[in-house]
Amino acid sequence: MKLTKGFWQTYKEVPNDAVVPSHQLMLRAGLIHRSATGLYSDLPMGLRVLQKIEQVVRRELNRIDCYELTLPVVTSAELWKQSGRWATFGNEMLRLTDRSGREFCISPTCEEPIVALFSKTVRSYKQLPVTLYQIRTKFRDEIRPRYGVMRAREFNMKDAYSFHIDPDSLRETYQEIYQAYERIFNSLGLEFIVVEADGGTMVDGDAKTHEFQVLANSGEDRVIRCTSCGYAANIEKAKSKRSNVEFDQSQQELELVSTPGRQTIEAVGEYLKIKPECSLKSLLYSSVSGTGADATEEIALLLLLGDDELNEIKLKALLGGDHIAPLSDGAIEALGLHKGYIGPAQLPESAQSRLRVIFDIAIEKDVSYVVGANQVDYHFRGYVPTRDGEGQWADLRLARSSDRCDSCDHSVEEICGVEVGHIFELGQKYTESMGVTVLNQQGKAVNPYMGCYGLGVGRTMAAAIEQNHDQHGIIWPVEIAPYHLYFALISKSDEINQLGVEIYQQLVDAGVEVLFDDRKAGPGMKFKDADLLGLPLRLVLGERDYKESGKLELRQRKSGQSLEVSPKELLPTIKRLLGELRGE
Ligand code: ATP
Ligand code: MG
Repeated sequence: MKLTKGFWQTYKEVPNDAVVPSHQLMLRAGLIHRSATGLYSDLPMGLRVLQKIEQVVRRELNRIDCYELTLPVVTSAELWKQSGRWATFGNEMLRLTDRSGREFCISPTCEEPIVALFSKTVRSYKQLPVTLYQIRTKFRDEIRPRYGVMRAREFNMKDAYSFHIDPDSLRETYQEIYQAYERIFNSLGLEFIVVEADGGTMVDGDAKTHEFQVLANSGEDRVIRCTSCGYAANIEKAKSKRSNVEFDQSQQELELVSTPGRQTIEAVGEYLKIKPECSLKSLLYSSVSGTGADATEEIALLLLLGDDELNEIKLKALLGGDHIAPLSDGAIEALGLHKGYIGPAQLPESAQSRLRVIFDIAIEKDVSYVVGANQVDYHFRGYVPTRDGEGQWADLRLARSSDRCDSCDHSVEEICGVEVGHIFELGQKYTESMGVTVLNQQGKAVNPYMGCYGLGVGRTMAAAIEQNHDQHGIIWPVEIAPYHLYFALISKSDEINQLGVEIYQQLVDAGVEVLFDDRKAGPGMKFKDADLLGLPLRLVLGERDYKESGKLELRQRKSGQSLEVSPKELLPTIKRLLGELRGE
């Protein structure tokens, strides 16, 4: 493409809300344009990258017999009411009403529409398994849209759905898609890890789900990874053990101690001269299911080691309600409890019958702890869980980088990632709730099993930039660079200009993707723009140098290495370098 005919502009400044490198560089390099909060136009240069990512995705999915289709972007409320998600999706779903008063939404994901389509088409196990996908607009009215296209409101997602007669077939396809995702992100030149994830309300029970996380400092996701055995999980799901803690093994008597005005673990620890992990933290949470008059509430008293944090995702999975939240101050008082002095021992009658008591499994069962005494200004010393308490034991704590691996005991580390893909074994959740059946081998109508597989195209582009940039700009992996080569012509001579046009044409004819900077501008601006855009190779035809040596300069963006090349050697050299950059 000739820049004199192009629609491309670069910028020096970025708005204040662009805080991560990918967002800043995408705006500065003219890849995207912000239209409103969380809404972006893909400019021609950015669209080429997105299309290349899509091509890799298509290639790998088609290879394993997934079929592409498109579903409408606007879908009827009826479908979502059948599955129950019209009520539970909340404000992320953008809803609209047509001229006849019928309700619709802009699809935030497409399980319901695909299940409806499937039910009209497939009748028998003989038509299974089948995997369908689309690459299409989704809309989620995110609470905090940010980081540009990384967390946008409107975005393009590849979403795939598979249907199966039994769990074995689902597992097989899940594995194939897992491997296809590995090939996709490898082809895109990204450094990533696959981690166990929390399925939330998407999946049946403890079904399998994995996230593909591109490693990047700006990543919103926290991942716990074992430094030895390879175990890796999103912190929302991660199981790990605490490093050795020295507990008070003395098993003293339960003793009421005065702790005037000391309402936090730190303040009590300081006052009684004990380490935070020798206290138990008591938290009250409410879990609500259903809405309106049908709503039911369960209140849980959670006990954790004093310096541990609660993992709300684990708690939600355990309690199983629709919403969980810390209990309000008013509700705490209503139970006859006092904030800052809550504990599991000698609960007042008003609270005892209402509370489900849950101990975190990192707590030692037979040692002494300090806990709240359920009286203002008092704590108990010498509380031994198995002797003085009663309740359920469960994994509630948030893993941290000082922990040890749950399976192999080695140390773990915490790393940041950008979740670019997420795959789920959905099981029968949607086919059951939407009443879809197929005939099995015995002629019996059964709910088919499903898997779903998401991949964010724009987020993948942003993640690629997070991993591949320097202070001057982007450094594209060859596979997704908008063009292969930035060809800067720096000449005022008609003769050299003509040579430039000829070289450009020859390279294009030979299949090289060339961005031809034939603008009337000096080398400073052209080189800055070239570095900012970050195409793998930069070719310069400079009038003075060419007249002296008969050569052009060919420079690699990533390594900065440059070569002097004659027009004749140009094409083979470019092909060789691109091959090397591709790792061929
Ligand atoms: P997150 O936890 O980041 O909100 P999610 O779990 O809601 O992600 P999925 O529903 O699994 O995401 O969506 C599949 C893929 O779609 C994600 O892996 C991500 O690549 C992409 N995606 C999800 N939300 C957004 C968004 N707001 N902007 C851009 N891409 C998104
Ligand atoms: Mg989300």
